Amino acid sequence: MNKVNNIRDYTNDEYISETEEYFGNSEYIAPGLVHTQEELINKIKSAPIEYLSLDDMKEMHNTDIGEILNAGKQEDMIRVGKQLAEEYERDWGSLVNAINDNKEIPPPIVLRDTKDKLVLMGGNTRLMVYTSHNKHLPVKIIDYDKEFDFKAEEQEFKKREETMVRKIITEDASKHYPSILKDICEPCKSVEEGEKIAVDLLNTLTKHKSGIGLAANQIGINKKVCVVHIPKREPLVFINPRIVAKEQEIMGVPEGCLSFPGETVHTTRHSLITVEADNWEEKVVLGPTSEDKQESTDELWECIATQHEIDHLNGKTMYDRELKREPIKRESKKIGRNEKVEITNGTDTKKIKYKKIEPFLLEGWRLVEEEQVNV
Ligand SMILES: [Zn+2]
Repeated sequence: MNKVNNIRDYTNDEYISETEEYFGNSEYIAPGLVHTQEELINKIKSAPIEYLSLDDMKEMHNTDIGEILNAGKQEDMIRVGKQLAEEYERDWGSLVNAINDNKEIPPPIVLRDTKDKLVLMGGNTRLMVYTSHNKHLPVKIIDYDKEFDFKAEEQEFKKREETMVRKIITEDASKHYPSILKDICEPCKSVEEGEKIAVDLLNTLTKHKSGIGLAANQIGINKKVCVVHIPKREPLVFINPRIVAKEQEIMGVPEGCLSFPGETVHTTRHSLITVEADNWEEKVVLGPTSEDKQESTDELWECIATQHEIDHLNGKTMYDRELKREPIKRESKKIGRNEKVEITNGTDTKKIKYKKIEPFLLEGWRLVEEEQVNV
């Protein structure tokens, strides 16, 4: 394998984002290693740079590099790596470009415990892309030889990984839906049963930065539990939820789904719903109420995501809510972000780029349906 020599230091911003990841996962990466971000950054700054042997890489924890190295031929390593990167929503392409352009790259960060166990702390995607392209990337090694013994933590670590973060069931949207996404989930027998599932859902959702909601059947549990978590807001947990009122229909909501990665579907939803759930004493009313624009957008998405997740529990996906354009005989078409669309609020109409539609939908505008032209 070709050694990569043109490495560079992390920028200040990169130090912050790399270490944020640690504090997000510290409980199971290296409990109690450091307590402040500054302390961790200093540790990384002073860590020596080494080239690990391929065997050491294969044995390393908290990374998928072993799976890639075991894939065999280079094309298989690339295939496996790409698949994993997609699953984690990581950018594979720009790192391939970095290799092709011979760009300088910061080395991944690895922890080594007293018994020489290695655990990756940052740079998994980098390591996957470079290794699968036959480039031997050096790593920064933090020798953590105080109270942390990875071996002793290993069992606990594995157990938590298994119970906390689950694999999301996905299927290429053009194929048939996986049957568990079509089945109606069973109600939970108790709130406690639902709460346990909700913990797994929230932890799994945290791993997928672009996701704002998840339903139990998406992680293979056929029970009526779903969670919605808009960044910077309190996560919402719903056990045996049902929507008891829906008002204010909105059309053309650009939705995605963790079970259909990369797909966007324009749906019809409601911007005001009332939900009942076994873990809520009172009815929950969702929809934009805040005067603050950002907050009201968040409230709207919370409301839409809740409809999306409760649909999952009833065996429906976003495709079942796809905006129907009845007058058009062809397949309902996808609207591109830069495509101009006509919107109306009942009295006025205007044309805007589709990507700018969100604030208008909030104010009661909707897409003008294309009309059939009789000739
Ligand atoms: Zn979904």
